[in-house]
Amino acid sequence: MTEIRELLLSRIRDVADYPEPGVMFKDITPLLADPAAFTALTDALAEIAANSGATKIVGLEARGFILGAPVAVRAGLGFIPVRKAGKLPGATLRQAYDLEYGSAEIEVHAEDLTSGDRVLIVDDVLATGGTAEAAIHLIQRAGAEVAGLAVLMELGFLGGRARLEPALAGAPLEALLQV
Ligand code: AMP
Repeated sequence: MTEIRELLLSRIRDVADYPEPGVMFKDITPLLADPAAFTALTDALAEIAANSGATKIVGLEARGFILGAPVAVRAGLGFIPVRKAGKLPGATLRQAYDLEYGSAEIEVHAEDLTSGDRVLIVDDVLATGGTAEAAIHLIQRAGAEVAGLAVLMELGFLGGRARLEPALAGAPLEALLQV
């Protein structure tokens, strides 16, 4: 493992049984509080953004905002928030997706994405892939192209990568850390 990956991994705190029994929550707040680690993460994701040919960064609420916004600034790209339903004031596109219990909806401002855009999606953790899959569909429905998905950490045992394969249709899924 590279030095940067070791640094990033050392700043992620495992919290057992949060937010519910059986879940090992990956808490990135220690990483955010460490300027060397946060800068290294931003630089690594900005390099992925530059290599992807993206024209915009989409961040997934909420930790995808914290990571995606500085990446957009560093890469010289616009930042577009994909929010939980009901939070954006303008005209939106909305996408529903299934959760373990029940369902959820995410939204994007319709005017933020157009047919010429290539979008890199940024989030902290890829788990089942349900949220990212919904975001991909949302971006495609807006007429934009998905340049890829970049996450800090992939929880491989949950099978998100395989789930996302059809929706990504060859676009890269980059995870800086795998567990
Ligand atoms: P999923 O849709 O299952 O891939 O879940 C992805 C979203 O839930 C991401 O936005 C993550 O921030 C969050 N998430 C899921 N599982 C975890 C976990 N074990 N630790 C931290 N965040 C998680």
